Order: sequence, then structure tokens, then C-alpha cells
Amino acid sequence: MRFVETRGNDGTKPLSVTFSEAILNPSASFGGLYVPETLPAFDENFLNAYLRSDYKTLAKAVLRRFEIDIDEATIDAALARYDRFDDPNDPVPLARIEEDCYVCELYHGPTRAFKDMALQPFGHILSALAKRRDEHYLIMAATSGDTGPATLETFKNASNVKVTCLYPDGGTSDVQRLQMVTEDALNLKVIGVKGNFDDTQSTLKSLLSSESFKVKLDEKGIKLSAANSVNFGRIIFQIVYHIHSYLELVRREVIGMGDPVYLTVPSGNFGNALGAYYAKKAGLPVEKILIASNINNILTDWIETGVYDLNGRTLIQTESPAMDILKSSNIERVLYDLFGAERTKALMESLANENRFALQSDELQALQEVFSASYSDDALCENTIAEYVEKGYLMDPHTATCIKAYRTLRENSLPTVIYSTAEWTKFSPTVAKALGEKVEGDLEALMVVEKKTGVRVPEMIRALFNKPIVHTTVVEKEDIEKEMLSFL
Ligand SMILES: *Cc1c(COP(=O)(O)O)cnc(C)c1O
Repeated sequence: MRFVETRGNDGTKPLSVTFSEAILNPSASFGGLYVPETLPAFDENFLNAYLRSDYKTLAKAVLRRFEIDIDEATIDAALARYDRFDDPNDPVPLARIEEDCYVCELYHGPTRAFKDMALQPFGHILSALAKRRDEHYLIMAATSGDTGPATLETFKNASNVKVTCLYPDGGTSDVQRLQMVTEDALNLKVIGVKGNFDDTQSTLKSLLSSESFKVKLDEKGIKLSAANSVNFGRIIFQIVYHIHSYLELVRREVIGMGDPVYLTVPSGNFGNALGAYYAKKAGLPVEKILIASNINNILTDWIETGVYDLNGRTLIQTESPAMDILKSSNIERVLYDLFGAERTKALMESLANENRFALQSDELQALQEVFSASYSDDALCENTIAEYVEKGYLMDPHTATCIKAYRTLRENSLPTVIYSTAEWTKFSPTVAKALGEKVEGDLEALMVVEKKTGVRVPEMIRALFNKPIVHTTVVEKEDIEKEMLSFL
């Protein structure tokens, strides 16, 4: 299958590219993104054929249907990364929390957040491609929490790939910082930046677009790639678990084959939700995709009114920081799929020039046929966490945003899957607070919550507090480039 561009072609880039090209060089004409030219069918025939398959077999079948230009051995090795999850036979367990509500836990990988679902196999594929082509790539990440650890972990000791990871010094949780600064491999460089996440991210963006930096990389024979969620190489793995959770409901006889379900997705950059969108579009029987946000509720407004408006908004820091996002990159792929390249380009230009775009009423209707949306503030999330602890289920603050969506957005009482994107251990101070405990730092929070709920802190989180710190660099913004070049 070939991949095309969401904003059309500028006459200098190829009209379409292979999967490998799309993931190695993810930037498309006019600042657009790569998307598959067509979608394969994940209809009842497909679902029946893989009803009894394990996760990796299903994943392989999904990848095969996209006819990607990756050889079988590389795909097998990439999917073997799921063997690093808690239960290799069931990497994404489904827990029942209500009569008709199930939580699909996407956080059982090495860094305890759903970023592992895509980054683990993606990392293997990217490195294998680089090696085969005898090319060397630099992946630059800026993180406020979950992406950094997952990016470092997947590329740790990988051939032909180096990673630099910037984090705001003092701006992440202890667990997240320790996951990064204890990650010991020669191809990884973790740099703390004095400033907040915005400073960190803007420095990264200016480096990514700096010609002089590119020249210096060229001299070292290094190309730039990206492992962020606009890379289709991540999205493809985020289609699989939506199909898997549906099949799991069929296997448990909660639904019959072909019966519709709701999927509820805590959303930021819309990668997870886009995976659900593609699965539905390809034939998975999904009634609607329910989008959950925090108080940075631009997606709720967009889906309710058709207007995506950055004017007058400033990013608010919340207790679900991985969803503190105003420019949600992957909605562009939905726009492309619904309205085509020309319209997508116009809408994205409007967003760039006027900080807003507005759908027409027929376009809004098409969007609302697929999505509904709601948001929760921190207080509601804390109440939700406490309520479910009482009922015997412990969830993190991101997952908690889904409960209001589940309760208020469904038009029919159909079985519903909520996607849980992080283990509570990554946000333990908030969880402790929700349970009415005052704590200092993550370590105390972990112990308090464990004691209060009886839920064990996994060994890999516990071990972080005793691991040697290997990355001690903390610099001013101005010194980041120098620091990176000396590492390279
Ligand atoms: C990244 C992340 C999200 C948001 O996912 P998107 O695909 O960007 O919408 C939600 N929750 C957690 C914990 C995350 O790490």
C-alpha cells in the first residue's frame, strides 16, 4: 500500500510513498501528514477469521492487510516486543468495572503508559530499516512525562538510532524523571532543561527547523526522523487494540459478532482516537467513539460546535498532563479522511493564520456521526478515582476522564470499552490526593496508595528509586544544541 499526503502534493515530493519512507521521513507537503491511500477491511469476515487469535497474531494480520513494505522477520521481531509486557499472552487485559463497562488496560508495557503499545514495535522497525539502509538517524524528543521514557526504552541499544530527550527540570513526576535519567545506554542522551515544558518544546522545534543544525548533522552523517504520534508507524499499532478489545467482548459472550459497542478514548494528540476511527471506518462495529478530555477541552468544543478555536485559550496544567494539549495533531488525518486534501489544507491554513477553523454544518454532521465528546476537570477526576477505589478498581487520572464520557454521552446502553492509558503508579501523588492523603513526592504516594488499596507497586517502579542516575546534565535552553552535538 502507498501513503499520500493530507494537504496534497507540492510538486517536489513524490506523489505517494511506501510505509518505510512515510515513517523515516514523516513530514509531508505543506506541513501535512502521511495517510494510507485506502483502508483495508476489518469487517466481520476478518473478525471471524481472527476471533481465536492471540494479540500478536491479530497484530500481524492487521499489518499485513496494510501491505506494508516490511519483511516478515522484522514484523515478527517488532511484535515480539509485546513479550516484554506483564502477560505476553494478554498484553492488553480487559477489566470489567460496571455491568456494561470494560477497561482495556494499555499500560502493561515496560514504562507503564500506553505509549509503549506503539513505540515498542515501532522502535524495532525504525532501527531495522535504518540498519538495512546503512543510515543513521537521530530522534529528538521533548517530553512532559510519558513520551520520553517510552521513546528511550524502545531505542535503548538500538542499531543506527540515537535519541536525545529533553525534559523540563522539575516539571515531571519523580517516576517519570527517574525512568529517563536512569536509562543506561550509549545511544541515549537525556537533558534536563531549565524552564517549563513550553520552553523545552520550543527549543526542540527551533532545532528541528534549523538549517545550520541540519548541516552539522549532515557532516556527521546523521539524518533526522521523528517518533512522535504524527508518525504513521505509531498509528498503525494503535488500530490493533481496538479490534482486540472488540474480539475479547465477543469471546466473553458480552456481545455477539457484529453487535455495536462504544469506545471511549482519553485524548490529547488524538492518536489513540484515530486508531479507533480507522478501525471503525474499516468495518469494526463501533456505535460511536467517545472522546474524553480534561479542562483543555478544545476537542470537546470542536466536536460539539465544529469550531476549533485557539484564540483566547492558554494551556492549563492539569492532573492529566499527557492530555494538556491544544494543537491536537492527528485530527488532521480525520479531516483528510472525511473531507479530502484540498479542504484539509484550507482548514489547516486557517488554523495557522487565524488560530481557528470552522466546519460547515454538513461537515459537522459527518464528524458527529463518528464522535461525541466531553471533558472532566481535576476535581471530578479525583472524585472518580476515589469512587472506583471504593468499588475495587484503581485508575489513573487520564483514565478517570473517561467515566463522565461513559455516563453522559451514550445514546444507547451498549457495552462500552474505556481505554486506560497509564498505570496509577505514574501519577501516584494525584491518586493519593484523591484518596484524601497528603504526601511528599512519588515514593511516599506509591507506598500510601499501595497500603490503602492493596494494589502492589510493580517491581520495575519500585526499583527506579535505587537505580544509579546516569544522566545528570541540566542546562539552559541556549546550551541544548551544544550539548547534543557533543553527544553525537
Ligand atoms: C499520550 C497519552 C494520552 C493521549 O493520547 P493521544 O493519542 O495523544 O490522544 C492520554 N493518556 C496518557 C497517559 C498518555 O500518555
